[in-house]
Amino acid sequence: MSYKNFPMVPRVVFGRGSFNQLSEILDPKRLSINAPFIFLVDDVFKADGNLTSRIPLAYDDKIIYVSAKEEPKTDQVDSIVKDIILSTKERPSGIIGIGGGTLLDLAKAVSIMLTNEGEAKDYQGWDLVKNPAIYHVGIPTISGTGAEVSRTTVLTGPEKKLGINSDFTPFDQVVLDSELLQGVDKNQWFYTGMDCYIHCIESLNGTYLNAFSQSYGDIALSLCKEVFLKNNLSQIEADEKLMMASWHGGMSIAYSQVGVAHAMSYGLSYLLGTKHGIGNCIVFNHLEEFYPEGVKLFKQMKELHGIALPQGICANLTDADFDTMIDISLDLKPLWENALGKNWQKIITRSKLKALYKKM
Ligand code: NAD
Ligand code: ZN
Repeated sequence: MSYKNFPMVPRVVFGRGSFNQLSEILDPKRLSINAPFIFLVDDVFKADGNLTSRIPLAYDDKIIYVSAKEEPKTDQVDSIVKDIILSTKERPSGIIGIGGGTLLDLAKAVSIMLTNEGEAKDYQGWDLVKNPAIYHVGIPTISGTGAEVSRTTVLTGPEKKLGINSDFTPFDQVVLDSELLQGVDKNQWFYTGMDCYIHCIESLNGTYLNAFSQSYGDIALSLCKEVFLKNNLSQIEADEKLMMASWHGGMSIAYSQVGVAHAMSYGLSYLLGTKHGIGNCIVFNHLEEFYPEGVKLFKQMKELHGIALPQGICANLTDADFDTMIDISLDLKPLWENALGKNWQKIITRSKLKALYKKM
């Protein structure tokens, strides 16, 4: 048995208003006046002077606004990398991603592709990256995905939706400032927050579970319960707790795996473009058979916050469409093995998956 030697984020700042320290964090990392910092910022902040005016730009530093309407694609990463190479005098000093999982993943992928040849799609998989990425910083503005701590950047490519999983993927620095979470829409808050809850349930009920994952998973789950089932927290407390739940949920799956909801939601995302958080919710809602307690609690939380999930998203799909989703889903072998054990192929058949998708 060989155990994973897992890289962790080496530096993190936590605290309201800590975003204001960005300049003192970045200054020592500047390689030269010709090597700029590139800020990849969710374009939802474009009109938010309060945030953008506090981005510490100097010399040739620049902000690239990116829409998070769609999840990151490999060719989008390639095109950002090309723009950066063409518009900078020297290789950048660093990439700073400001936004949700979409922007965090883009920042990770761009920082890798600035030092590795070829196209982003060539690196989708496990441990294919050869050279260390350039310095990269993650600043989440919505909580739940765990992308701020994870060893992956999930990208949709021409053939598959799969992460670039590597030791060079995790951020060198993360800034956790709960003030940045203001303005998140209620439904989106729930969907992304539930991504964290589902990470916990899938990790804690998986066959890969171990004391490392369980310790993080237990904490994340109890924080999720405080945030989503109680109403005695102030907004600030709730934001800070969800921020830490996301962190611990990400750490929990780092050393185990996710499960059925993620495997199926990747199929929805690939075929229909359904985003990660909402896709996981749509799937998880139908997984009583696999996660009875977890789904019961999920339904309570949904009720409590008045969240109505979309229905019938698979109603008009063809057999070929179902096949595509099933192929994408079944390809995620470690997720199924974690969820159902070594004999997972006997438990989850194509017809079973089709019947489940048809309910959604
Ligand atoms: P997101 O980044 O897609 O953002 C969701 C929406 O919230 C967007 O419309 C965005 O503009 C908006 N938003 C974000 N912050 C806001 C703020 N402060 N105020 C107002 N609006 C704000 O959401 P997400 O759920 O965090 O990320 C999903 C992505 O994360 C997917 O691409 C998924 O594949 C990826 N993901 C990655 C990992 C990983 O480990 N790398 C894990 C899980 C999910
Ligand atoms: Zn997830």
